Amino acid sequence: MDSTSWQSILSNSVTNVQDILEQIGLKPLDFFSKPTNLTNFPIRISPSFLKKIKPNNPLDPLLLQILPTEEELITHPGYSLDPLNENQTNPVSGIIHKYHSRALITLTGACAINCRYCFRKNFSYKENQPSKSNWQSIQQYIQSTPFISEIILSGGDPLINNDTFLFDFIKMIEEITSIKTLRIHTRVPIVLSERITHEFITMLQKVKLPIVMVIHCNHPDELDDYIGDKLRQLKKIGVTLLNQSVLLKNVNDCSNVLTKLSNKLFSMGVLPYYLHMLDHVSGSHHFFVDEKDAIAIYKKVLETLPGYLVPKLVREEPGTLYKKPLNLF
Ligand SMILES: *Cc1c(COP(=O)(O)O)cnc(C)c1O
Ligand code: SF4
Repeated sequence: MDSTSWQSILSNSVTNVQDILEQIGLKPLDFFSKPTNLTNFPIRISPSFLKKIKPNNPLDPLLLQILPTEEELITHPGYSLDPLNENQTNPVSGIIHKYHSRALITLTGACAINCRYCFRKNFSYKENQPSKSNWQSIQQYIQSTPFISEIILSGGDPLINNDTFLFDFIKMIEEITSIKTLRIHTRVPIVLSERITHEFITMLQKVKLPIVMVIHCNHPDELDDYIGDKLRQLKKIGVTLLNQSVLLKNVNDCSNVLTKLSNKLFSMGVLPYYLHMLDHVSGSHHFFVDEKDAIAIYKKVLETLPGYLVPKLVREEPGTLYKKPLNLF
């Protein structure tokens, strides 16, 4: 599959409701809330993700993650554009520095898929795209803040950048002696696994910093053998593989689904990291699982899985200096 470039696969993404519905054999009337193109957050679904959506099921858990409906347009009290106040922890263009020892770099605003519940869908990426001219100020900020020991490449999705740009940036980070770990937050191994090419693996292997890759998978149906093979290749070169999920109503708010997800990921070399409570970002209210239900589901997962396959159930709160574990009592 490496023979077709991942860029051309990405350019074949579906970007409107009609094409999604046609692919899965459904009509707008089949939905409880009408699908709509009139959304502020663009539609984008990678070809491989679209293929995994089962036909004729308006409640397919993969479909619900990518199909915008009129529910998105409803405003709800307590939901806002920037619920985490990230625009205020933005010391230099391209950096979010909120947690003491880790600085997050928004390396691009683009993703291989646009998830309707995304908490960063309103982040001002235009002002935070570190073009090469910003790299110096990024490097200076990190150098002058020596308690930062880990750089997190995030976005958007950092693996949307081409290898030259990405590895030039990593080289610049490697020059900073206080940086001990490189982390990559990406959904690409799940939704555009063609991008994990032989060349990419070879270049990643040359990076001297220990690498942690946190992938983002919410449902076991997102995984297949091709992805499993790519993940095992990453593991083989020493990348620590972790997964984060968001707890989403009608997608994975079920202990059986979460249990299956952890087991399947483990068979591919990935350990669970976080299970996030949904952030109160405008337009995502229909994905919200309340705390009481979340804890009940989570307790069942705790009863079923070995401890190392249970993600931490956390919530992000503006002003809290870590992702806050939910109180299970
Ligand atoms: C989640 C997050 C991190 C990383 O937090 P960990 O608990 O180390 O995974 C860093 N910066 C920002 C802005 C984050 O949202
Ligand atoms: S891949 Fe991540 S950053 Fe991109 S839209 Fe989905 S949740 Fe948001």
